[in-house]
Amino acid sequence: MTQAKVCFIGAGNMTRSIISGLVKHGYPSALIHATNPSQGKLDALKQDFAIEVSHDNAAAAQAADVIVLSVKPQLMEAVCDALSHLDLANKLIITIAAGIPAARYSQYLKQPIKLIRTMPNTPTQIGYGMTGIYAGDDISAEQKAICETLMQSGGKVVWVDSEDGLNQVIALSGSSPAYFFLFIESMIASGVNMGMAEDKARLLAEQAALGAAQMVIQNQQLSVAQLRQNVMSKGGTTARAVETFQQGDLGGLVDKAMRNCVDRAEEMA
Ligand code: NAD
Repeated sequence: MTQAKVCFIGAGNMTRSIISGLVKHGYPSALIHATNPSQGKLDALKQDFAIEVSHDNAAAAQAADVIVLSVKPQLMEAVCDALSHLDLANKLIITIAAGIPAARYSQYLKQPIKLIRTMPNTPTQIGYGMTGIYAGDDISAEQKAICETLMQSGGKVVWVDSEDGLNQVIALSGSSPAYFFLFIESMIASGVNMGMAEDKARLLAEQAALGAAQMVIQNQQLSVAQLRQNVMSKGGTTARAVETFQQGDLGGLVDKAMRNCVDRAEEMA
């Protein structure tokens, strides 16, 4: 059943991204159902992707093989409570919500369930997403394959062995688009401070970021450190800039930021 009947409870931004990718990759629209309290959001989803839509979470969940829980974490308990009268024994439940440990969902749904936790990131919107996935030992290979099919529609997936691993995924990919945005933002600001027009500074910085990411991806045989060294010549301009970052302990700062990110994820659980 890798093309299972899927219902997304809480069709917001992330769900729209996943559905868009699924439909683009040929997943049958007739097998996709989305729910939301907003008629406007439902109309837009129906118009754009020809999927089934409704306000009725319980009826949609009842009719599905796979239920994707995609409301905000603070609404999750109430949303699950309203599904708890259903018999979920034969359904796969996938959550994309940040922070809530897997064990808590069976408490919210008041029954034993088969659950997979995922952690996507915002580039899923444009097909360059990265999703970390965690499943317990009770999840079958077929259920894992279904989850991979869904989450790969927006980019790549990586499996982790523990829920702690998912917190590391948050630091490495869930939150990290913002780190790169901050770096690009800082480069643009510096370019502007030096007198460059903002649109040109942005073009130069964004194209360098894209090119650097592609060079990392397309040169798997080389370490990232080697790629960096290939740009640097002794006493040259790049070396001067990189040494400045190293004197400011950029590596240490990144490590501290990522550990703080993991700590925050643990606090929120
Ligand atoms: P969002 O607010 O765009 O989407 C949630 C939707 O749920 C909203 O449209 C809201 O109207 C709807 N909703 C509220 N109550 C509902 C109810 N009772 N029944 C059905 N729908 C209801 O949020 P989002 O950014 O799409 O995030 C959704 C989930 O994805 C969150 O749990 C978040 O933690 C997780 N997530 C988001 C990101 C991200 O980068 N945006 C990354 C990883 C995980």
